[in-house]
Amino acid sequence: MGRAFRMQPVTLAVVLVATVFVIDLCLPLGVASAVPYTFAVLLALRAKSGWVGPTVAVLCGVLTFVKMGIVPERGNTEMWKVIANRCLALFAIGMTTLLGLLRRRAEAQVRQHESDLARMSRLAVAGELATVLAHELNQPLAAVCLQADMAALLATESTSAGLRAALGEVAEQSHRAAEIVRSIRRTVRRTDTERGPVDLNEAVRVVARLLEWRARRTGVSVELNLAPEPLPPTYGDRVQLEQVLFNLLQNAIEAVETVHGPRVIVMETAPVGVWLTAHVRDSGPGLADPERVFEQFYTTKPEGMGLGLAISRSIVTAHGGVLTAVARPEGGAEFTCILPIYREEKG
Ligand code: ADP
Repeated sequence: MGRAFRMQPVTLAVVLVATVFVIDLCLPLGVASAVPYTFAVLLALRAKSGWVGPTVAVLCGVLTFVKMGIVPERGNTEMWKVIANRCLALFAIGMTTLLGLLRRRAEAQVRQHESDLARMSRLAVAGELATVLAHELNQPLAAVCLQADMAALLATESTSAGLRAALGEVAEQSHRAAEIVRSIRRTVRRTDTERGPVDLNEAVRVVARLLEWRARRTGVSVELNLAPEPLPPTYGDRVQLEQVLFNLLQNAIEAVETVHGPRVIVMETAPVGVWLTAHVRDSGPGLADPERVFEQFYTTKPEGMGLGLAISRSIVTAHGGVLTAVARPEGGAEFTCILPIYREEKG
């Protein structure tokens, strides 16, 4: 089923090329009947493999001129007009291919961005899990290490050699376990961050674009109400801040999908004194306890992990900002992210 669907654009394009070629052959040379090849190129450009579009374009270009060698009949049209017609068709095929390829490249960049965010997100979740584990296991492990050390010290000559060896082993292994927990924590925390000025409007636009298809699929409309440009930047890791907005928008989409009635989300940015604010308002079911949603592992979703908002809050806090949530009196939830404006020091 999936395979047949993937084959479709290529098959259709080939059928269309053949059809246009046959029709083109049936008409006199003077008729500009090669232009419909552009539709075949457009179809071929939708194929998964990047080489299909250009290959079909080259084939169409060749067939456009092959016809001149097969059909001598040119009606009342002069030869130079016939050649001009063919060249125009070639130009149209070329331009369609170029625009299609540029579009494919832009789409690939968006997909790349999306997978970068997803990767960052997974790393953040792994980091958070490791921190929680390290925190929870640290104390019992420390106690085990201490007791094992003490037991090994207290083991006297009268204690059997086998028991002494076993106690030594317990002490060694518990120290090892504690070191493993510490090193996992260090490893996942070591995410290289690139910090610099971040345009909040641009971050909102990027995230809205990334989730556009997701929202559209379920009839959710995402409205952007952005502060007038130029907006002063905030300072920090662009990908991490995008990840926060991505979480907020994704949660908002999932929330409005659960209700009947208007499915509207508004993302708004504004400068307020020395701060920048980003609001995400939705028309979903709202929040019974706004503070709980930031707790680790709090989730109401069957597949949820309950870490997205906890991570988002720690990212915003690390950027010198604040992330809050309220239940809107008119229904739905509103998340507000406040970040400091970055002013470059002069001199
Ligand atoms: P997850 O999405 O994995 O559940 P999050 O930390 O992102 O984890 O969210 C925690 C919980 O907060 C969600 O399960 C949901 O119950 C609640 N929540 C988050 N955003 C919204 C929202 N916009 N409207 C209603 N509830 C929300």
